Amino acid sequence: MNKQLQADKRKQEKALVIGAGIAGLLAARVLSGHFAEVMVVEKDELPEKPSTRPGTPQDFHPHRVLPRGDLIMNRLFPGYIDDLLNLGACNVQNSKMTRFTAYGKLELVSSQKNASSSRALLEWAIRQRVQKIPNIRFVTKQVVTGLLASEDHRQVVGVRLHARKERNKERTVAAHLVVDTCGRQSKLNKWLEALGYAVPEPERLKVRFGYSTRHYRVPAHLTEKLSASSEGDPANNKGAVGLLYIEDNIAQALLFRAGGKQYPPTAPEEYEKELYSLSTPMLKELIKELEPIGAPRGFRAEESTRQHYEQMENWPSGLLVLGDAFCNFDPIYGQGMTVAAIEAEMLDISLQKGDLLQPDFERKVLQRMQQAIEPAWWLSAIADLRWNGVEHVGAIPLKGVAFAQKYFDLYLKTAVKQAMENHDLSMFQQYVMMNALVLSPQEIINQRTLTTLLTGDESREETQLLAELGEHDATHLQERINELIPSFTLAFDQKVPSLFSADSHH
Ligand SMILES: Cc1cc2nc3c(=O)[nH]c(=O)nc-3n(C[C@H](O)[C@H](O)[C@H](O)COP(=O)(O)OP(=O)(O)OC[C@H]3O[C@@H](n4cnc5c(N)ncnc54)[C@H](O)[C@@H]3O)c2cc1C
Repeated sequence: MNKQLQADKRKQEKALVIGAGIAGLLAARVLSGHFAEVMVVEKDELPEKPSTRPGTPQDFHPHRVLPRGDLIMNRLFPGYIDDLLNLGACNVQNSKMTRFTAYGKLELVSSQKNASSSRALLEWAIRQRVQKIPNIRFVTKQVVTGLLASEDHRQVVGVRLHARKERNKERTVAAHLVVDTCGRQSKLNKWLEALGYAVPEPERLKVRFGYSTRHYRVPAHLTEKLSASSEGDPANNKGAVGLLYIEDNIAQALLFRAGGKQYPPTAPEEYEKELYSLSTPMLKELIKELEPIGAPRGFRAEESTRQHYEQMENWPSGLLVLGDAFCNFDPIYGQGMTVAAIEAEMLDISLQKGDLLQPDFERKVLQRMQQAIEPAWWLSAIADLRWNGVEHVGAIPLKGVAFAQKYFDLYLKTAVKQAMENHDLSMFQQYVMMNALVLSPQEIINQRTLTTLLTGDESREETQLLAELGEHDATHLQERINELIPSFTLAFDQKVPSLFSADSHH
């Protein structure tokens, strides 16, 4: 069959997405352009107004979309920021953000149009868009319990499900492509094993993180919304704090720690005490003005998990997975939804290229996604591994951990100094854009930059970095760097850079 004919055939087929979280919505939007019908099956009853729901217990906690995610979401849902602003999200364009780093305080102003909202409002705004797409149908209060496969189990041909309150009345729904986006609760490994597949051990970052979030009403006289964040100090087991504004004049404060030795408190009095003790003087002044709404709530997880399904040579056709079900992260770096957007984009690119026609399509998409999310996994692991008690467990050790940690220490120190002394934010912005998954870590870690960082001042940071760099020939520094850290070239190839022609000033 020629490509056009096969593509036309697909146009008559049905895709089924399990889960209506952020990844599910993004996947449905992408698939709607390539399949005749897209069914989204969700176990929750979807709320009729923006509100938290049981299937996404993380939605009480602050959620932000990183610039890379924003670019992709804006391509998939043009003008979604306006939707959020119309729904009452906090307009953060030109608002001040104070960031306390280990090397000093920086005042940043976000010049781009942007909205800060609760996770519930963000999901609501995106779902409104998805619900308007004529070939997408939501089927709610249905729990998927397993995969339906062809007789030889080489192809997934649908799912088994039951209505939430009717466990014993299982039904089947057929589909040509099934996409699991069940998040951290995904049971995909069990479902695959039930079909006789041997699933490779995932890579695990035993991060043992704890979040504790409290919501506050912001009094009307506080017209200037000053968000603030203070990085944790893992070496001294000091947690991180953050304060950000969302819709309806509400601010969310968060406390965070990793390593599992101590978790942020959820009892109101203890929470206030810890929030106060970790806050900087400016934040302390601000917090005094805020009026708590309800008690704080916690969220803990033992590990971040990166599945390696792409290694399964016999991965069944008709099955894909994306979002937290594929790879999840320590949320403090705000990567999860952006990574889901990157994966959805990789799926879109593959579908547009007509790759769906290739016999190994699904596995190739998984491989492509895996390459695309490598910087996110690496960066968060590098940062998490600074906490005592965090360990990486995987078939292949992570490359360049100690070197990158020392490099980022010296880089950040120099960048903050440059910003404070010369009002030059360029280095710091590069660092922010790397953590926003817009720039490759290689844009920060390279011979040119390293040469400028090494001033010979014998500071602690420089001495430690030189020790990690080890024996090197000064004229071939780039080769030494290439030995030490991953190349990330496949994460930022072809189409992706063109997305960033827009001004990514932050
Ligand atoms: C405390 C915390 C803070 C976070 N902060 C950020 C942040 O600032 N920025 C960011 O980008 N990310 C953040 N994240 C991560 C973010 O929440 C996830 O990356 C994102 O929600 C992933 O989307 P998903 O669709 O894969 O999973 P989810 O959003 O969790 O959605 C899964 C969906 O599947 C449904 N489901 C599950 N099982 C079944 C089943 N068997 N049948 C039918 N439906 C099912 C659930 O009901 C749910 O609707 C945070 C996470 C946590 C825990």
